Amino acid sequence: MRRCDELGRVSEEEGRLTRTFASPAMRGANALVGSWMRQAGLTVREDAAFNLIGRLPSAERGAKSVIIGSHLDTVRDAGKYDGPLGVLIGVAVAEKMRGQNLPFHLEVVGFSDEEGVKYQTTYLGSRAMCGLLAAKDLGRIREKGIARAKRAKREFLAYLEAHIEQGPVLEHVRAPVGVVSDIAGQTRIRAAFIGRAAHAGTTPMNLRRDALCGVAEVVLAAEKAGVIATVGQCAVEGGASNVIPGRATFTLDVRDVKDAKRRAACGKLRKIAAAVARRRGLALEWEIVQETPTAPMDAGLTSVLRRAVGSRVRTMASGAGHDAAVMSKVCPAAMLFVRCKGGVSHHPDESVKESDVAVALDVLARAVLELAKRHG
Ligand SMILES: [Zn+2]
Repeated sequence: MRRCDELGRVSEEEGRLTRTFASPAMRGANALVGSWMRQAGLTVREDAAFNLIGRLPSAERGAKSVIIGSHLDTVRDAGKYDGPLGVLIGVAVAEKMRGQNLPFHLEVVGFSDEEGVKYQTTYLGSRAMCGLLAAKDLGRIREKGIARAKRAKREFLAYLEAHIEQGPVLEHVRAPVGVVSDIAGQTRIRAAFIGRAAHAGTTPMNLRRDALCGVAEVVLAAEKAGVIATVGQCAVEGGASNVIPGRATFTLDVRDVKDAKRRAACGKLRKIAAAVARRRGLALEWEIVQETPTAPMDAGLTSVLRRAVGSRVRTMASGAGHDAAVMSKVCPAAMLFVRCKGGVSHHPDESVKESDVAVALDVLARAVLELAKRHG
């Protein structure tokens, strides 16, 4: 908890926590966490993608790696637990494993870019390590060398990640931790209705082509679409209090653990929007800007985590994306959620209880020992 506080002060902005990919603040965070890794007995390096990697080496020949990871970058004006908590729990677990003669290397990884603040492209750190960067990503960024961080799939045995829940469920059911079943897929849509701007006083209601009224209908349709759906941005271009909106843009974020259900909901909402446009005499623009399928966590590794939690395990899907979604492409991955106050995240008010962190630490340590038994 003290380390979370200290790391929370390593920022590129005065008076608030912001740490973006490859920034001097990130280098500072890597240096600080690296020093704690060394204290815990790990050998430390930074890869070509600025991922910080601490390793408790196994004496066994040809050993693979069990990785405990999360990210060290943040959003703007962030809280101090989203990401760093998982990395620091990893360091503490590794410290406990010193002298255990594990049959695998135990690695703690602090990924350099999960939030995607700098380039609006998420998971640069974990995707670089897994060799999953697209040419399109490399084209967008200045740090071209990060592709060199790629490691062979055969090096990875398992990936575990602890992360704050970022939602209110664990607090609601009074559980310190929960086990993640899937990381929900998501579709992000950018759309607009185009009508006709006109005088708000002289144009009768039945002769209007109000673009914002079209958006209003889609917002309410999304609320009833049977999936997790949000219109988080909406703007009237050139809006004024006495002008009928001529063009209104909006975003639509749709998530569900069932990919087919999510796609069907998106298709249905597009049809509804098109029907609204026809009825109201509007034009519609609709563009899918990002689509990510659901990443199921590994059943076997998840059951290791469940057993480590003990009785009355809360299993839940993650509505937010995590590095575990990327790691699940190269090895079995599982995730543990830690209860957070009010479900608040991406905000300086993020808060976790020390006793809940102790539970998470204990669960991960037990899971690592169980894996050692299985692979020993
Ligand atoms: Zn996070």
